[in-house]
Amino acid sequence: MSTDSTNIITRFAPSPTGLLHLGHAYSALFSQTEASRQGGRFLLRIEDIDPGRCRAEFEDAIYDDLSWLGLEWETPVRRQSRHMDDYDNASRSLDKMGLLYPCFCTRKDIQAEIKNAQHAPHHNADGPDGPLYPGICRELSEDEREYRIQAGEVFALRLDMGKAICCLSGPLHWLDRDRGETLATPEIFGDVVLARKDTPTSYHLAVTVDDHLQGVTLVTRGEDLMPSTHVHRLLQELLEFDVPEYRHHGLLKGSDGRRLAKRDKSLTLKALREAGKSPDDVRKMAGL
Ligand code: GLU
Repeated sequence: MSTDSTNIITRFAPSPTGLLHLGHAYSALFSQTEASRQGGRFLLRIEDIDPGRCRAEFEDAIYDDLSWLGLEWETPVRRQSRHMDDYDNASRSLDKMGLLYPCFCTRKDIQAEIKNAQHAPHHNADGPDGPLYPGICRELSEDEREYRIQAGEVFALRLDMGKAICCLSGPLHWLDRDRGETLATPEIFGDVVLARKDTPTSYHLAVTVDDHLQGVTLVTRGEDLMPSTHVHRLLQELLEFDVPEYRHHGLLKGSDGRRLAKRDKSLTLKALREAGKSPDDVRKMAGL
């Protein structure tokens, strides 16, 4: 889909797993600026699919910090934890296409298999998230899968990447407004996990479904997430979703040259506010 600048929709999609820092402020302002300079709409989305790491107090702090910065967003805010049915529908569609399989491996099983394979002539490659899944459960028979599920074994759902790529009619691309037409190579992730038992979705699936359902036409996010776009582009194709355009912005670095992270307590928006900085100071610090 080509983006009509009059109805551009961007979004900022933080996870409430900690306080927002200067890097998040930059990302949120970047997204809002992209929407407003083209007369479009800016959305805020709370990515709270991981109950073990997300906390209500961090979500409240997101609203406080962003309002303090002067951002305005549409309500109601989409909170991913309330939309598990949408992700489940998407994963059922992929399952009907025969593209998902249950994986019963523990982290230990995977590490052991990778260690063994290191001695083999074609040993396992690394992907953006670490070593690729060596495919142990891909070859299980239907009977064994059924037996283990019935026995209550914990499993994740993985995408059979080889099969998924075979479904495509040709190479996939996306338009990155800074980098141009970009070839998608989702195979770099191997058989990526799309759902887990405790969280019936994954970052990749939830983001792709939400961007589609919310009509996002321009995805803006940090360049650290650029590898993920390869998988998202594949999911869009398999699920017959429209394709947004992308801007993957640079990341702010701390004085140590490393990119800002939740460990940089002095650069949280809360700390900056308490240290007497104004929203304008923060915009300047973010280089905006
Ligand atoms: N929730 C993700 C994060 O906080 C961002 C997702 C995205 O922008 O696609 O890193």
